[in-house]
Amino acid sequence: MAKPKKYIFVTGGVLSSIGKGICAASLGMLLEQRGIKVTMLKMDPYLNVDPGTMSPFQHGEVFVLDDGTETDLDLGHYQRFVHSAKFSRKNSFTAGRVYDAVIKKERSGGYLGKTVQVIPHVTDQIKENIQAAMEDADLGIIEVGGTVGDIEGLPFLEAIRQIKHEEGASNVLFAHLTLVPYIPTAGELKTKPTQHSVKELREIGIQPDILICRTDRVLEKGIKEKIGLFCNVPGDCVFSAQDAESIYDVPLLLSEEGLDDKVVEKLGIWTGRPDLSKWKKMVKTLHHPDHEVKIGIVGKYTDWRDTYKSISESLVHGGVANHAKVTPVYIDSEMLEKGDLSALPEVSGILVPGGFGERGIEGKIKAIEYARTKKIPFFGICLGMQLATIEFARHVCGLTEANSAEFKPENQQNVIDLMDSQKSVKDLGGTMRLGAYPCRVKQENKGKPTHAFAAYQKEMISERHRHRFEVSNAFRGRLEEGGLVVSGLNIDPKTSEELVEMVELPDHPWFLGCQFHPELLSRPLEPHPLFVGFIKASLKAKGKG
Ligand code: GLN
Repeated sequence: MAKPKKYIFVTGGVLSSIGKGICAASLGMLLEQRGIKVTMLKMDPYLNVDPGTMSPFQHGEVFVLDDGTETDLDLGHYQRFVHSAKFSRKNSFTAGRVYDAVIKKERSGGYLGKTVQVIPHVTDQIKENIQAAMEDADLGIIEVGGTVGDIEGLPFLEAIRQIKHEEGASNVLFAHLTLVPYIPTAGELKTKPTQHSVKELREIGIQPDILICRTDRVLEKGIKEKIGLFCNVPGDCVFSAQDAESIYDVPLLLSEEGLDDKVVEKLGIWTGRPDLSKWKKMVKTLHHPDHEVKIGIVGKYTDWRDTYKSISESLVHGGVANHAKVTPVYIDSEMLEKGDLSALPEVSGILVPGGFGERGIEGKIKAIEYARTKKIPFFGICLGMQLATIEFARHVCGLTEANSAEFKPENQQNVIDLMDSQKSVKDLGGTMRLGAYPCRVKQENKGKPTHAFAAYQKEMISERHRHRFEVSNAFRGRLEEGGLVVSGLNIDPKTSEELVEMVELPDHPWFLGCQFHPELLSRPLEPHPLFVGFIKASLKAKGKG
């Protein structure tokens, strides 16, 4: 008989943003390092069918998977912590997608005219989606988005309650993350919010097995016993998730408290201790860097840093690989546009990330011109690469009107344009190029290795995309004559259309733009080669390399 699958459901109480995603990912990492085949799943109770069209102001970045699925930044955390799971569309779904499936089924007669209800039809669909995500794994960590008590979350909680009933208590574990605040005026840690959120869970039939309490200090045994008593959980199943200097400390702190030991004990899984040696070494470097470097990130959502979550994490990874602490300096492109360039000399490298829409682009172009002419390491990602191409066309190739069809559709010098195969398409809905595509890296330029090849050290790579516009092949010759090196190319096997994937400048310490999003593949233990190369060059520019 096949081994039963194991399920860990992670819910959150009291407040949002107390680190449920990081705790879930940390647990995933600890269990994976014990040799368990782990997968992770995020269930979001909001009604958008997918997060792709949600504002980054409200929702943080859109994290794209190999198969082109647009998900939220929690999948980014999962991927950075868990190495062997392949994440796809199955690993995240929203209530919107669940209801969409149920309504489609109803419209096509799938329910044979029965009254369609939240229980059992919506809950059955949720359970079906959970099983689909679990297909290739022995253990799934399933995070329920939102906070216990949210109306939208109820069908999800009911579905997971049913799963425990069906799969048996030895195969299903409920872990609940709450906040235990320290109130300075009382000089005390307060357990009441935790008690209330557990009460709320128990009212709907879920008794947590494990409580993870976010605190600013380690919880003493006495307080754990108290929380345990009121929440009907043994005191040794109450863990503290204390504030940490870095998210990468979290799995180590949780493991020190014995969380993974307790989880495998409760689920009856026999494994050895996790091998955390590489992770510990990485964290040690992170906290004891030999160098420090400031990197300017030029963007328009300067107030909402979650928009660039994967980029800032990738900079951390690239820093660790170079024994350096990277301090990101967020530079508002609109300030640059107004002519205030004073932030630029403060940084040793400039990164222009992806983005959509016209606001702030002339400011970004100013930053790129500065990096190009002053020989400051420059890294352009997606929109950043497109703007680097525009800057080069305008100021080096004499195409003074150079622009992108995204901003000036009727312009004659759109060096960035829709793909040839898309130009006739009127409705742009659903026309984004999403997910992983192969790219061929150019090895040399005039006898010297390209920046791209120097970083990747291989010719064929695969990177994730999320864009609609491209370097126009009509202008490619002109740009190359001007000295822009196309160092990465994708060839569409169906149309034979060539798409520029990377551009760079040869006579520059490090100037590279890529049409794809390398930040979506970087992990602390597998830092992305382009980020490693960019940080290395920035350290050198600072005189520390
Ligand atoms: N707006 C540009 C495009 O659609 C760039 C997208 C991005 O940076 N992700 O092509």
